[in-house]
Amino acid sequence: MIKNQNMTENKLNRLKEILSIPTHSRNEKLMIEYLQKVLTEKGYEHYTDVHGNIYVTKGVSENYPCFIAHTDTVHTVNMNLEVLQEESIKDGVTLRGVDKTNGRPLGIGGDDKCGVYLVLEMLDTLENVKGAFFVSEEIGCKGSQHADREFFSNVGYAIQYDSPGGDSMSLTLMGRFLYNQKSEFANKVKGLIVEHGITDFAYHPYTDVWQIMEKFNIACLNLAAGYYRYHTENEYVVVDDVQNGYELGLKLVAELGENKYENLKESKTYQSYGYWNNGYNNGNYYSNNGYNRNYSTTKNNGLLTEGKKEDDQDDIFNSGEYVFNERREGNRTYYHGGYDLYDEDFDW
Ligand SMILES: [Zn+2]
Repeated sequence: MIKNQNMTENKLNRLKEILSIPTHSRNEKLMIEYLQKVLTEKGYEHYTDVHGNIYVTKGVSENYPCFIAHTDTVHTVNMNLEVLQEESIKDGVTLRGVDKTNGRPLGIGGDDKCGVYLVLEMLDTLENVKGAFFVSEEIGCKGSQHADREFFSNVGYAIQYDSPGGDSMSLTLMGRFLYNQKSEFANKVKGLIVEHGITDFAYHPYTDVWQIMEKFNIACLNLAAGYYRYHTENEYVVVDDVQNGYELGLKLVAELGENKYENLKESKTYQSYGYWNNGYNNGNYYSNNGYNRNYSTTKNNGLLTEGKKEDDQDDIFNSGEYVFNERREGNRTYYHGGYDLYDEDFDW
């Protein structure tokens, strides 16, 4: 596995700068303003839509690679947030959040500020590239469900950095594969992904690229962003893993080029329903079966049906039970919103 590409001092400082910006779903002004300032200073063509989503275009291409992150975190905005740098033999340089007035842990929000950092890095490094920063992912992809169709009309594929740890990626989101497993896209990305140490192919509920593949039928990836114990105050970031995500992203673009890779609705499969239902049913905390009920409601609402009006999709997230987030970290599964933390060992 390729690892330990050291992050330069300048880059580490930028990562720390971004991690120190407090931002919370529906309260993302500081992060949005930071991005607008940076993008303007760099002279990148960008605009912000009415929802607060930011879209960036650099260079000229018929089929841009597009990198994606979300601007919110689950942590309440606390202006005392300070980034603490530590070092260990196991993880190398790590970063975590503390309250600068009393040293108590504060969620650093690497989910998804690491993604924000990585998208900016890709914009800086690549000649022809797009970037999209979506608001309020944590409360149900509130920003990306309004993703700009015209902006994505010349996007060849989309890569999000919003999968936990350093070794995971989403195999499916909401039960749909992010790309056809037998496609040219799959053949091109497989080797690089494994080479960069990604071994945990996970069935995740959702993140923004789920909306992107549903709306625009393009192949997507959701890669590890280097954050651990997400959604907890003890969240931390492994700098080497962030850097690994950067190196992997560059290699993926070099391999995929500026081409279009479709992920047509016809090729979607819902095999993972089985996995999900098994996984959840094996747990003892779903006595009300809330997830399954809401999931089938989602289906019945026609979210995955073509021709559905975008605004109607808002409804599916308005159920309190539905609005939660789940991601795995080794054997630990963390739930956010409506549930406390659970330790579960799913046999996925
Ligand atoms: Zn996230």
